[in-house]
Amino acid sequence: MRISVIGCGYLGAVHAACMAELGHDVIGIDIDEHKIAQLAAGRAPFFEPGLPEVLERGMASGRLRFTTDISEASGSAVHFVAVGTPQIPGSDAADLRYVDASFSALLEHLSDGDLVVGKSTVPVGTAARLAELVENTGASLAWNPEFLREGFAVGDTLTPDRLVYGVRAGDDAAVAALDEVYAAAIAAGTPRLVTDYATAELVKVAANAFLATKISFINAMAEVAEATGADVTQLADAIGHDARIGRRFLNAGVGFGGGCLPKDIRGFMARADELGVGESLSFLRDVDAINLRRRERVVQLAIEELGGDVEGKRIAVLGLAFKPDSDDVRDSPALDIAARLRGLGALVSVTDPEAIETSRRVHPELNYVGSAEEAAADADAVLLLTEWRQFRELDPEAFGAGVGSRVIIDGRNVLDATRWRAAGWTYRGLGRP
Ligand code: NAD
Repeated sequence: MRISVIGCGYLGAVHAACMAELGHDVIGIDIDEHKIAQLAAGRAPFFEPGLPEVLERGMASGRLRFTTDISEASGSAVHFVAVGTPQIPGSDAADLRYVDASFSALLEHLSDGDLVVGKSTVPVGTAARLAELVENTGASLAWNPEFLREGFAVGDTLTPDRLVYGVRAGDDAAVAALDEVYAAAIAAGTPRLVTDYATAELVKVAANAFLATKISFINAMAEVAEATGADVTQLADAIGHDARIGRRFLNAGVGFGGGCLPKDIRGFMARADELGVGESLSFLRDVDAINLRRRERVVQLAIEELGGDVEGKRIAVLGLAFKPDSDDVRDSPALDIAARLRGLGALVSVTDPEAIETSRRVHPELNYVGSAEEAAADADAVLLLTEWRQFRELDPEAFGAGVGSRVIIDGRNVLDATRWRAAGWTYRGLGRP
C-alpha cells in the first residue's frame, strides 16, 4: 500500500520505518527540517534500539522516503497522523495545535476514498470533530491509538499486542484498509477491536491512566513502608503473586515520566472536567501528586545523607532518560532530580548512555560526563536514577574505589542492597529499610 506518515517523532519515525519493513511504500513527512534531513540520510534522529536497522533496510529497498513537503502525501491511500500532543504550559490540557495544523495541511492533498488515520493521543471528541473536515474531501477518518513502548518501539509496532480501530459506524472500507496495512499482525492472530471514535480515543488514555495508577499505588505503599520500616520490594513480590494483581509495573522508585504518562493523565483529567465528569478522574490528581512526591523524596534523602545540606557537595547522577533504552528526557524524573539538586547548590555530575545530548538542551547547567566512573569521581553521594543495565551491573567494590564517600541512593530499587552494604556502602532505596 502507499502510506504517508505525518509527524516523524518517536512514534511516527518508527511507524514509517516499520510500515516499509512490512512491505508498504511509505513517505514520512515532518515540518522539522533537521529531523527529515537525518531520516532521509538513513539516520535515526533519536535513540531507539532496532530503528537504525529498519530505517536502513527501508531506505535500501526504495520503499521508504522522507520529506518536509506535505503535498507528497497525495497519492497515498492511507495517511497516518502521528504529530505531538504535548501539555499546554500552565494548563493540564493537551495542546492540539499540531494536530489541527497537520490536518489542515493534509486536507488539500486528500483524494476521494483516502483514509486518514489518527495515531496521536488526543482528548476524546477530537476525532469526531476532525472527521467532518476529512469527510468533506471525500476521504474518511479512523482513530488507531498507538501503544508502543519506547525502548521496544520497533517490536511493538511490528507485532503489537492489540489493534484498536475507531471508525465511523459502518465504515467497512476503513476497517478493510487498516486490515490491509496490518495484514501481517492480523495473520499472526493479533486481537483487533473495532470501536467508535470516542472509545478508541479513551482506550489510549485509560490504558495510560491505569498504568500510572499502578505505579503510583506501589509508590504510595513505599511511602507507608518508609514510615514503618517495611520493605516495599518484598511487598510488591508478595502481592504480585496474586494473578489478579500481577507483578509488572509494581516497581517502587522515582516514579513515571516521559512524553506520555504524565501529560496523558493530566490531559485526561482536563477533558473529563470539560465533560462534567471531573470527579470520576479526581483520583488521578493523587496519582500525579504521589508520583511527583517521589522526586522530592530522593532530594530529601540526598540532603539527609549529606548532613543536612547539599550546597557545594559533589553528587553523581547515573541516568537521565525517563527510562532505559531511550534518550527521551521529556518529564524525566532523573533529569528533574539532578536539576533540583543543582538548584540547591550541589555540584552535580551526570551521565547517561544515550540521553546526554537531549538533557543538555534542557539543562545546560549540569556537568555532563561520559561514564558512571567519571561522574562518581570524588563524589560525596551517588544517585542511580535510570536503571540502565550498565548501572544495574556496577560492581560495588570496583566502583567504590573512585568515589569520595560510599553513599548510594538507588532511585529504582534495582541494586542488591546486601551486596552494596557488604562493600562498605551506605545504601538507601525507596520504600526499603
Ligand atoms: P514527538 O514530539 O517525538 O514527535 C512529534 C513530531 O510531529 C515532531 O517531529 C514534530 O516536528 C512533528 N510535527 C508537528 N507538527 C507537524 C505538522 N504540522 N506536520 C508534520 N509534522 C509535524 O512526539 P511523539 O512521542 O512521537 O508523540 C506523538 C504522538 O504519539 C503524541 O500524541 C503521543 O502522545 C503519542 N504517542 C507517543 C508514544 C511514544 O512512546 N512516544 C506512544 C504512544 C502514543
